Order: sequence, then structure tokens, then C-alpha cells
Amino acid sequence: MNGDTRTIGFIGLGHMGGPMAANLVKAGHRVIGFDLVPDLVATAAGAGVEVAASSKEAATAADVVITMLPAGRHVLALYRDGGLLSAARPGTLFIDCSTIDVADARSAHEAGVAAGMRALDAPVSGGVVGAEAATLTFMVGGGQAEFEEAEPLLAAMGRKAVHCGGRGAGQAAKICNNMILGISMIAVSEAFVLGESLGLSHQALFDVASTASGQCWALTVNCPVPGPVPASPANRDYLPGFAAPLMAKDLGLAANAARAGGVPTELGRKAAELYAAYAAGAGATEDFSGILRTLRNGVVTEHRPGPESNPKGGTTA
Ligand code: NAD
Repeated sequence: MNGDTRTIGFIGLGHMGGPMAANLVKAGHRVIGFDLVPDLVATAAGAGVEVAASSKEAATAADVVITMLPAGRHVLALYRDGGLLSAARPGTLFIDCSTIDVADARSAHEAGVAAGMRALDAPVSGGVVGAEAATLTFMVGGGQAEFEEAEPLLAAMGRKAVHCGGRGAGQAAKICNNMILGISMIAVSEAFVLGESLGLSHQALFDVASTASGQCWALTVNCPVPGPVPASPANRDYLPGFAAPLMAKDLGLAANAARAGGVPTELGRKAAELYAAYAAGAGATEDFSGILRTLRNGVVTEHRPGPESNPKGGTTA
């Protein structure tokens, strides 16, 4: 058990939130959970989560309220109209672990503080596997005292927590990192496709690039061709892994933030377009590295409305 036992209201018991709540129970905390989907609530109850009749009820007795929801509109709706902020005791620490727009994260933080609460944004990387194994990385925005209070809870759900700065900084770090990842996966995929046309074997390109200046996570861990990295999703017909719709969502959030700030991020915008088209078709159920196949066939390049047409973040898995 990590430090003091806390009472945690946990809203959103889906792919990520379910195992995260279960890990808080395992660490000795009292977790009161709620989700709109009764089956998910039942699964969480099986893991020792106490069931609340509503999200408001989950927040009422809590020292800390954690949300793990699809998008910013869900978080803001629950904070404001859903009554979480009015139901919680003054001074309750709100930690939003969802991946949402930076602007929404800042609004959520401000709404929390205006209601007499304290707030952090703490999006994660590590996926469902990391949520189950408690090996997530948290990227945290908010005050130092709030970060320190949250640390033992984050340690029960993850391996690492980085305090990135003030409100919204966790979301900013998350989308900037994933913009690097999305662009680099496309770069690695295009290099393999070009190599194929030049008669270069996948293994030869891997052996060179993985020890040269082309080295990156998209190549050496999540290699988009089968063979060189046996554990990569390409070896199991692109079963996720990190689902393409989630990459499309994150790149959409990066594009929104870039547009709002007047920052060009040309490759980020192009990657958002390519992933939006891929996720709407073959990529709907594939790992994001499967974009290699559509890049190879040239079918992903037709223009479709990018995620920027959906300023609240588009799809999620
Ligand atoms: P999910 O859809 O499985 O879970 C979200 C849950 O929120 C659902 O069970 C839904 O019923 C619940 N919900 C929605 N509105 C609600 C409301 N008003 N009250 C109570 N519950 C409500 O999604 P997920 O995969 O768990 O992802 C959650 C967040 O984590 C997303 O923001 C996602 O982008 C982010 N994320 C996901 C992954 C991943 O691999 N799945 C990785 C990193 C980050």
C-alpha cells in the first residue's frame, strides 16, 4: 500500500479506467466507482470497487475524484452540469486522466478552482496493457502541492509520473509526444515502402536504420513490417497495440492546439489527415502501425475532412 488510504471517486470504468480503479483498490484505497455501462460497473465491483448510483454520488464522499472519459466534452459536462463540482467537498482534488483538448483541460481546471476544488490534468501513455499492469506513465499539469498529493495514487496505477508544468501542461506533453509518434510511424512506414520498391529487404533496412540516425520507437519497438521485431503488432496482423482511432484522436487534438496557437506543424497536420482517413476505414480496428499497408497501396492519401472539423476530439476506442 502507498501511504495513506484515500477515498477515491472514480468516474469512467472503461478499457483504461476499469483496471486503473482496480489497481487503486489493490493498493489499499477505498474506490467508489461509476460508469454509464452497467457491465463495466459490475466488472469493477468484482475487483473491489464500491458501486455508486451516479457520478455525483461517487464524488460526494471522496478525497480525490479521478475521471477517465472519452473526450473533453464529457469531462466538462460532468464537472459542470453533471454536478461533480457541486457534489464534492470543498478542497477535493480532481484528477482528470482522460486525453482531451488542452483548452478543455484548462477550462476544467478553472471550473474546479472556481468551485473551491483543486485540480490536475494527468493523461497517460501505456495503453490497456499498462493500465492492467500498473505501468502507465502520467503526464501531469497543475500545482506542485497537488502533484505531490497525487503521486502515491499515480504510483499505484503507473510506473512514472512527470510534472510537466501548470494547468494543461500534462495534456500538452501528451499530444506533443504523440505527434512525434504519429509522424515518425508514417516516416518509418514510407521508408519501408520505398525500400521495397528499391529491392531492399525489410531486415536490411531495419539492421541499418535501427543502429543509425533513423532509429526511433516506431522502428525498434513497434516496427510496422513483420519480421524484425517479433513482438510488434505487424506480426499479428496489426491487432492493437495502440489502436489507430486513438492515434487519429490524439493527432486531431494536436492539430486543434496548433491551429488555436497559430503554429504551422505542417507534418503534424498531414499526419492527422492521414490517420483520420485510415482510422475511418481499414484502421478502425487495427494497430496504428497498420497505416503502412494503406500507405503502400496509396489509398490513404485521398483528402477527407481532417479531425480539425471536430474540434472536440473525434473518435476514441
Ligand atoms: P472507453 O471508452 O473504454 O472508456 C470511457 C468510459 O467512460 C466508458 O466506459 C463510458 O461509458 C464512460 N463514460 C462516458 N461518459 C460518462 C459519464 N457521463 N458518466 C460515467 N461514465 C461515462 O475509453 P478508454 O480506452 O478507457 O479511454 C479513456 C481515455 O483514456 C480516453 O480519453 C483515451 O483517449 C485515453 N487513453 C486511452 C488509451 C487506450 O489505449 N485505450 C491509451 C491512452 C489514453
